[in-house]
Amino acid sequence: MSAGHCTTCPYCGVGCGVTLERRADGALAVSGDAQHPANQGRLCVKGSALGETLDLAGRLLHPQIDGRRAGWDEALEQVAQRFGQVIEQHGPQAVAFYASGQLLTEDYYVANKLMKGFIGAANIDTNSRLCMASAVVGYKRAFGGDAVPCSYQDIELADLVILTGSNTAWAHPVVYQRLVKARQQRPQMRVVVIDPRETATCDIADLHLALRPGSDAALFNGALHWLARHDGLDRRFLRRHAEGAEATLASAAQWPPERVAEFCRLPMAAVTAFFDLLSEADNWLTLYSMGINQSSSGADKCNAIINLHLAGGRIGKAGCGPFSITGQPNAMGGREVGGLANQLAAHMGFSASDTDRVRRFWQAPHIARQPGLNAVELFQAIASGQVKAVWIMGTNPAVSLPDADAVRQALKRCPLVVVSEVMAATDTAELAHIRLPALAWGEKEGSVTNSERCISRQRAFLPAPGEARADWWILSQVAQRMGHGAAFAYRHPAEIFAEHAALSGFENQGTRAFDISGLATLTPAQWYRMAPVQWPVNAQHPAGCRRLFADGRFFHADGKARLLPIAPQLPKNAPSAAYPLVLNTGRIRDQWHTMTRTGKAARLMRHLSEPFCEIHPQDAAPLGIDHRCLVRLDTPHGWMLARAQINPGQQRGSLFAPMHWNGQFTAQGRVDSLIPPVVDPDSGQPESKHAPVRVSRW
Ligand code: SF4
Repeated sequence: MSAGHCTTCPYCGVGCGVTLERRADGALAVSGDAQHPANQGRLCVKGSALGETLDLAGRLLHPQIDGRRAGWDEALEQVAQRFGQVIEQHGPQAVAFYASGQLLTEDYYVANKLMKGFIGAANIDTNSRLCMASAVVGYKRAFGGDAVPCSYQDIELADLVILTGSNTAWAHPVVYQRLVKARQQRPQMRVVVIDPRETATCDIADLHLALRPGSDAALFNGALHWLARHDGLDRRFLRRHAEGAEATLASAAQWPPERVAEFCRLPMAAVTAFFDLLSEADNWLTLYSMGINQSSSGADKCNAIINLHLAGGRIGKAGCGPFSITGQPNAMGGREVGGLANQLAAHMGFSASDTDRVRRFWQAPHIARQPGLNAVELFQAIASGQVKAVWIMGTNPAVSLPDADAVRQALKRCPLVVVSEVMAATDTAELAHIRLPALAWGEKEGSVTNSERCISRQRAFLPAPGEARADWWILSQVAQRMGHGAAFAYRHPAEIFAEHAALSGFENQGTRAFDISGLATLTPAQWYRMAPVQWPVNAQHPAGCRRLFADGRFFHADGKARLLPIAPQLPKNAPSAAYPLVLNTGRIRDQWHTMTRTGKAARLMRHLSEPFCEIHPQDAAPLGIDHRCLVRLDTPHGWMLARAQINPGQQRGSLFAPMHWNGQFTAQGRVDSLIPPVVDPDSGQPESKHAPVRVSRW
């Protein structure tokens, strides 16, 4: 490993640059990359502990078939043959891939191309569906493309920062660190936190709006109406650059502050204080995350936020914009290649012209012509027998999907489950017929895109252990064995990246947001050295683009943005006599996803070492629940045990439990086994923040 080796953190969507150096004693020193625009030298505690998670304990190091060790040839042949047999007997809709925001863009590209271009179904979805599918719908409806307009630099330039549905201090710590520093340097900056819970993020808030869970859209509708009444709209911008303003403003007029306060269960003074801050600030930035997206009306909430920015003309300018901060390191890269069942490739959909364009580019024999099954539908289709073969890559749906026990049962019944994994014994890998050892962070080469559209390289600095291989290689080998040799004859991930970049610019007349055609001619050596760059990267923006829509042009055919009238909806499932409370789930500061990597670091485990449940003291007392006693949580879907944490910052009637614990750590702590498979009808994203629940002392 060379001195000062640079790569990108494999955890959250902040996408921090990481520098690694081998010390004289042989230990690996991990630090933040001062040159990386996302973090400018900072790291959070998870990133700092990366060096403590690199041992090979528990790794899957050899292919396995039905629990016995196999060679790569046999394993690849079996995957190709058995997928081929299912396709021959039942058609392409009987097979599916379930991928991950942990995959690198090059891996994702090959998986998407194989399924949608050569197998002929669009049944490839990803755990990113659980993370940001609602944000995608919101952006596409408003802008005509899945395009995050902002940069992290806008945090430092904003007069007012609104954090909604985001415990940024724990879930995106380096974004929070940037905000804290910006606030110190510009004390006049104001911060509003909108969240039913009082979280660590509230430490920086001038105003915390602890609204009724799920009522966010009403608050943003009310804000829009307030601006309309107080001369706060940018009417020139609306006239020139947007459609739908009239109907949207008429709809928002149904939300005067009194009604907002009642619906959101907020003090009237707090509601108007927020609206006044909006009226007074020259620019505002709204950062939103899972509290908005993971909802049965998540896409509408996103559009309610975007409406406000469009109507106020707070977009395409410094310190402005609706900024979805994604959960995963490469959720954005997955969106770019088409790694969602309702996208085809390179931000193209399933229109006749897009389908034909991608077919010609790939020279694809069996192009998918309609959307496939999204994450929740996919596992339900496995349960019903419609899908008979599934390949799961780099993710653990038996822990992380809603109704996780049903997912586990579906996989047990599925005739063929293939899992590509880093770890040998995840809850999902244990259900696989064929296990394929994949390279981990530090061993593989590729690229990722973070929340601000910044493409960064992940670089290898460790040798491949055992027989582990890159995901793109495994997929290409299977594709070749299925008879698609010429289209999958990749020798290096740089070739895949170049093809992906070329597709993004193929017959793109500036109508598609994602265009990195300026990177299509990189040689492998140039790709290896590629510095972080924000897309688009094309003839118009050869060095990338920090902020979109500065010229007022959007990606709808007429170049205009769209405002959408939003009718606020409360969560689908309401509490009942049998399940009188609601369960909110989310991340904690020091763990990542289902803990298969962060669970290895002793110092990360010390922060919060077991599943817990936060409960308001007035909810706990009548149930005889004391601080740190064991409690049992029940929903119609499952149950779990957790350590009670009495917390007055928790809203009455609402519990919080972390999403991380897997079945390897605790027999009964998988919170997603309690979550109903309720989804947003537009985005397919599950409502993971609002499950009616019963809690009792154990
Ligand atoms: Fe940065 Fe996120 Fe990694 Fe922390 S977990 S170092 S915030 S990318």
